[in-house]
Amino acid sequence: MSGAAGTGSAREDEPALLQIRQWSFPWLIHGFGTRQSERWTHRQGRTWVHQIHSNMVHRAAEPGYVADGDALVTDLPGLLLEIRTADCMPVLLVDPVRRAVGIAHAGWRGTVAGIAARTVQQMVDEFGCQITNIQAAFGPSIGPCCFEVGPEVAAQFAPSAVVQPGPHRLAAAPGRVTVDLLQANKTQLFDAGLARESIFQASSCTMCHPEQFHSYRRDRDQSGRLVSGIGMLA
Ligand SMILES: [Zn+2]
Repeated sequence: MSGAAGTGSAREDEPALLQIRQWSFPWLIHGFGTRQSERWTHRQGRTWVHQIHSNMVHRAAEPGYVADGDALVTDLPGLLLEIRTADCMPVLLVDPVRRAVGIAHAGWRGTVAGIAARTVQQMVDEFGCQITNIQAAFGPSIGPCCFEVGPEVAAQFAPSAVVQPGPHRLAAAPGRVTVDLLQANKTQLFDAGLARESIFQASSCTMCHPEQFHSYRRDRDQSGRLVSGIGMLA
């Protein structure tokens, strides 16, 4: 498969996949899945972890199941790293200079545990990536409109990621506030040294858009999973 043909076919096969326009590198395949693109990673090279809401990052050396954990990095073409979410934040990472990629599953526990920054650091440590060359993209997750938490969870976030009830939004239940996972993860990557113009988003609230996204908070045990992936064409 040539690089250009591979990327093109992914887009034609999966029109519902959310992609970052600036990431049109001919050797890169990436996307955030919607309800309409649940099987797009089912191809040669699919590589995954058993997600456990941790901050464990693994280096993938071959396709298939890697380990328990919540993030993967690789510099090998031919692997398609996959994460499955329903409200948690999917994070894609690419270093177009060193040609390495990463993916992370950042729910509130993973976010608090710094999984996005740890994945960036793993790319630096394993592949010699320069932080300033790494680009990040955030996908659909539960938004600050809907992600209501109790004070014990809110206390673990920086104040800038906690949205207090006010006249500009519906009041949360008494004693509860909402958390902005996108803001928390963006701040984490700025603090890690990524350039502001290297951080992209294809994000909207999973809970607010039932036609497009699965949401565990909304659908509970009936919820499916959104499939995000990134890899380099062999
Ligand atoms: Zn919402």
